[in-house]
Amino acid sequence: MISIKSDYEIELMKKAGKIVGDTHNYLKKYIKPGITTKKIEQLAYDYIVSHEATPSFYHLYGFPGAICTSINEEVVHGIPSNRKLKEGDIITLDIGACYKGYHGDSAWTYAVGKINKEKEYLLQYTEAALYEGLSVIKDGVHLGDVSHAIEKYAKEHHLGVVRELVGHGIGNQVHEDPDVPNYGKEKTGPILKAGMTIAVEPMLTSGKRYVAELDDDWTIVTEDNKPSAHFEHTVLVTKDGYTILTKR
Ligand code: MG
Ligand code: MG
Repeated sequence: MISIKSDYEIELMKKAGKIVGDTHNYLKKYIKPGITTKKIEQLAYDYIVSHEATPSFYHLYGFPGAICTSINEEVVHGIPSNRKLKEGDIITLDIGACYKGYHGDSAWTYAVGKINKEKEYLLQYTEAALYEGLSVIKDGVHLGDVSHAIEKYAKEHHLGVVRELVGHGIGNQVHEDPDVPNYGKEKTGPILKAGMTIAVEPMLTSGKRYVAELDDDWTIVTEDNKPSAHFEHTVLVTKDGYTILTKR
């Protein structure tokens, strides 16, 4: 069942979403060659906790980190470690925060120093694919319209669309109904209603769409080792459109 949030719940989700957006803003300046992903995680943890929230992903399904840090060919669920960022890497920070029981969730892929043209293209068009998907959201549209818009845009730009991982409803649970795939058909799936809150999150690749899991049982990588990017916002469906709750 897809829940419709009350005004009170929406207020809490706005607060949670703002903390997530602000955490991204705060971390941006630290994303440089030489910093470890563990250090970025610590900074994120301290920031979230100092704003009366808790990191949503810590111990979620047993995940060992406070945020996910995924580098280059890693698509999602990278575990913070002593690995140092290098010039030319891209890194996705997937950040969730829980404020008074309600969650915000946003992933963003960042360039570390100067990146090559292939990665630049991937970042530019994966971010654009997110907004392409968001642009069709309003009360009364089918969820499949959102999925279709993302897939169409990604394919027009020759990017791989990861299918094994999807966006999701969000509220007092990080992952709620419905699934929000990044591929699909128009006029299919549930109908969006004002007051629903969903996380839309295209995960696109420079190569093929196929992924594999590393031996750490968490990190998902592209099978062909091509880079992957991931842009995500938590949004509120409104009568005429949508409101981004995780704005930075
Ligand atoms: Mg996320
Ligand atoms: Mg998410």
